[in-house]
Amino acid sequence: MSSDSKPKKISPPNTDRPLLQRRGILAAGLAFSAGGWWIGDSAEADDRLMNEASPSDILSYLYSGNERFATGVPLAKHRDIDRVRQVAKEQKPFAAFLGCADSRVPIEIVFDQGFGDLFVTRIAGNIASSENVGSLEFGTLVLGAKVLFVLGHSNCGAVAATIKADDVPGQISGLFQHIRPAAKESKGDLATAVEINVRNQAITLSESSPVIAKLIREGKLAVAGGVYDLNTGKVTPVKLPTLGT
Ligand SMILES: [Zn+2]
Repeated sequence: MSSDSKPKKISPPNTDRPLLQRRGILAAGLAFSAGGWWIGDSAEADDRLMNEASPSDILSYLYSGNERFATGVPLAKHRDIDRVRQVAKEQKPFAAFLGCADSRVPIEIVFDQGFGDLFVTRIAGNIASSENVGSLEFGTLVLGAKVLFVLGHSNCGAVAATIKADDVPGQISGLFQHIRPAAKESKGDLATAVEINVRNQAITLSESSPVIAKLIREGKLAVAGGVYDLNTGKVTPVKLPTLGT
């Protein structure tokens, strides 16, 4: 490792981190902790470190970013014009997201990331429609994202409307068919439906895409799910079945 990629310590805002993140630190075997406090001295060094990280390290790194955001001590790195110029020629996002279009869930901010870090597709109800699957295949297979994260959120209007089976104008109801299984299984409970919908969309992503399933089998990609809380800013993991087999 060259000297400019030598990690430096950022004071942790909170040492009471979830087990997942502590495990990440132990498993990382890298010069940075996947808990997120040890990072490179430069944006280039950060990218090199992320390049060496495993999918589970990156997942832990994302959760540590969310913790920084939710506790009010974001690093807000990679958000200046130097970073814009650095990634102008080439992007190598380390994670890909399927999130809701809701204005209150801006994914880079929620996970304390910046330009060139995340490959994000957003659509109401975070549904894995075929166009989104195609985008995420590009983000993972071509660009090399190692985590594919489906992010739902509390009080999601698309999920709520599906539960109510609202009569809606235009093509809005086209979203409902994707969310209906979760609405049904939840027996009308919105929070449960949001969680089940994350799980269902993650399964759809893995099952409808041989490309994504292959990356998972090869250990190059981890699929994860979570729910963002509009009140606290925190993302809680959603347990997923074994995917990609
Ligand atoms: Zn939503």
